[in-house]
Amino acid sequence: GAAEKLEALRRKLAPSGDVVSEAGRRKTIEVFGEPLSPVQVVERICGDVRARGVRAVLEYTHKLDGAELAAESLRVPPHELQAAHAAAAPEFLDTLRRLRANIHTFQSAILHHDVEVATAGGGTLRQRYLPLDRVGVCVPGGAAAYPSTVLMTVVPAQAAGVKEIAVVAPPTKFGSYNQDLLATCHELGVTEVYRMGGAQAVAALAYGLQGLTPRVDKIVGPGNLFVALAKRHVYGEVDIDSIAGPSEVIVVADATTPASYAAADLIAQAEHAPGSSVLITWHEPLVEQVAQQLAAQLALSPRGDLARQSLESFGALVTARDREHAAAIAELLATEHLHLACEDPQEMLGRIRSAGAVFLGPYSPVPVGDYAAGPSHVLPTGATARFASGLSSNDFLRSNSVIHWSEADLRQNAADIVRIAEKEGLAAHAAAVTLRLAP
Ligand code: NAD
Repeated sequence: GAAEKLEALRRKLAPSGDVVSEAGRRKTIEVFGEPLSPVQVVERICGDVRARGVRAVLEYTHKLDGAELAAESLRVPPHELQAAHAAAAPEFLDTLRRLRANIHTFQSAILHHDVEVATAGGGTLRQRYLPLDRVGVCVPGGAAAYPSTVLMTVVPAQAAGVKEIAVVAPPTKFGSYNQDLLATCHELGVTEVYRMGGAQAVAALAYGLQGLTPRVDKIVGPGNLFVALAKRHVYGEVDIDSIAGPSEVIVVADATTPASYAAADLIAQAEHAPGSSVLITWHEPLVEQVAQQLAAQLALSPRGDLARQSLESFGALVTARDREHAAAIAELLATEHLHLACEDPQEMLGRIRSAGAVFLGPYSPVPVGDYAAGPSHVLPTGATARFASGLSSNDFLRSNSVIHWSEADLRQNAADIVRIAEKEGLAAHAAAVTLRLAP
């Protein structure tokens, strides 16, 4: 029963183009004059931005975000970035520097390196990795400001060697008018910050805006449904990272796990409403203890109401039969954040293969990964961890294969190449080889 319930929960949380709130539906009719689905909204906006460029971006920024901007003010001027940085508290800047150093160290260490393979005949084969030239980063700005998202996207890109990074954030007090966000961009050396959000920002990055910003090669970063659907829409013109939906955590716990820790970890996720928080334990008394702790801690939490709503809609306290059963449920859910808060977390890790990021033991709660440790917090959600990975510096590289055979290599393999070419009826392919080896 538990697994089915969780599967249903997972489906409910998966990003879908059809699910939209009543307020969202009203807004669509107000802006577009008809009840379009979110997918249709995104197609309309992207098509419009492609055709009419800056004018379309300004119109949608006005209609959807309520901000009346001029073309010149879409890009945050350098002096505003500098001023935000100059006004920032020194402790905040020190924190940014320490976090940046942690992220940079990890992201540099995991970078792919060129591989060269010698051939029998004396030639060489190579896999060559090169950074992307220009990337776009989406930073959300609807309900909270996310300097941490700037760190967790920009620093991996810089570790990979990307030179041009364009940040977009909606023109809100949580977005591109947020002074902490602007100070963070300046601290990281980001000079291109644009006041645009939603599908119009994604389209502007993908197609470029004449005279304002060239198109990018890849768009990364989290966002709401419209951002996610727009990234899917422009994929192919540009690359994208994965499409992330609402955040989620699974805490795997046993008799050794303090109930207060487990409850705190569930609430921390649930305050990203609508986040999903699931406890899995084979120690039955823990369920009641965690429920009590949840009630006590929610009463004291500043975002307690929001977290309570998410827990009621998308939370679950699950009793598994044993360790093995708990691991099987966690594997099925392929969660974004997996916290192994039980005894011998290393052994448990060996049983679970699908998760965005795994947190081991009592001193690695999810916020360590959200903010400080080094791996990016942009992670696959909604069970997509079964095929997708979290964002990393390697997502900002592309590779070339380089083939350099000697005459001996060609001679040695010529018969095989000719045989396949003849099978495919491609005589010129065969001739390109035989001609070189003719006496
Ligand atoms: P957002 O900033 O991603 O998008 C806001 C934009 O959406 C607006 O500028 C507007 O243009 C567009 N929009 C809103 N309503 C629309 C409508 N009806 N029609 C067309 N366009 C519309 O939004 P947000 O609200 O801040 O959401 C951010 C999401 O990102 C949250 O779910 C948050 O939890 C998530 N997030 C995830 C991570 C992560 O790393 N996984 C980090 C931070 C935030």
